[in-house]
This record gives sequence, C-alpha cells and structure tokens, in this order.
Amino acid sequence: MNATVHALLNQQINKEFYSAYLYLDFSNYFEDVGLDGFANWYKIQAQEERDHAMLFYQYLQNENQKVTLEAIEKPDKKAECHMDILKAGLAHEEYVTSLINEIYDAAYKAKDFRTMQFLDWFVKEQGEEETNAHDMITKMELFGSDPKSLYMLNQELAARVYTAPSLVL
Ligand code: MG
Repeated sequence: MNATVHALLNQQINKEFYSAYLYLDFSNYFEDVGLDGFANWYKIQAQEERDHAMLFYQYLQNENQKVTLEAIEKPDKKAECHMDILKAGLAHEEYVTSLINEIYDAAYKAKDFRTMQFLDWFVKEQGEEETNAHDMITKMELFGSDPKSLYMLNQELAARVYTAPSLVL
C-alpha cells in the first residue's frame, strides 16, 4: 500500500474514535440537562462512530497493513446552549467529510482502486451524516423555543435504535 494512503487510513481510526468520544460528550450534555431523547440519539451516534473506527482498523488488517493506535484527544465541546451542540455536530461532520475526501484523493493518485472502493461507502455515509446534522439544527430552530414541541422532539429522538453498519468487511 502507498505510504500516504496507509498513514491516512491509520489516522482515520483515531479520528473516528475521537468522533465517538465527542458524541458521547454531546450525550453527556443532554443527559445533564434532562433531554434523554437527545442523549440517546448521540449515544447511538457514538456507537456508529466506533463502528467506523473498527471498519478502518479491519480494512488495514485485511490488507496486511500495520495498525498503530494513537492517543484519543479530549473532546473539545464548548457549549452555551443546545444549539451550540448541534452546530458543533454539523461542523464536525463537515470536517470528517474533508478527511475522507483527503484519503480518497491520495488513493486516487496512488491508483489504489481497492481503497477507493472501500471508501465509497464512507463518501455516501458522510452525505447522510451531514444531512442528519442539518435536520437536527432545523428541528431545533423550528421547535426548540417551545417547551411542548421540544418535549415531542425529545420523544422522537428517544426512539432511535442502534443498527450495525451496512458495510461488512
Ligand atoms: Mg464517522
């Protein structure tokens, strides 16, 4: 495997675990303010990010490439209100999209077609993640200022259940 592609794939394991950590911190925030549905939604989001990390890990192992695990950063959430969390979520997903694109670009330049195919799932996934983050902001803008509506939104988010990723390696 090309050294740059290898380094970026290895780095992405850490980035995805960091994402899990960040969303777990978001879940903590909502747990503390009593919005258990939001807390549930972000806890499941954290599980999905852990799955992403494991997919990068497994892919490198399947390709007989060395995996090096690095320290996971402390979550850097600074939130004054619920909306700050949701906006931080969108900004984070846009950042992750840029990381996936960077790996894809390196794989493309190295003519690493297998890695490009592996990454295709993540390219699509990032589109869905950004849409979800946008939807959360829109719903909070519409309903967040009314306690009854916020209660209903919290109930809706409480219904989210974990599903394993559709990509199996
Ligand atoms: Mg992810």
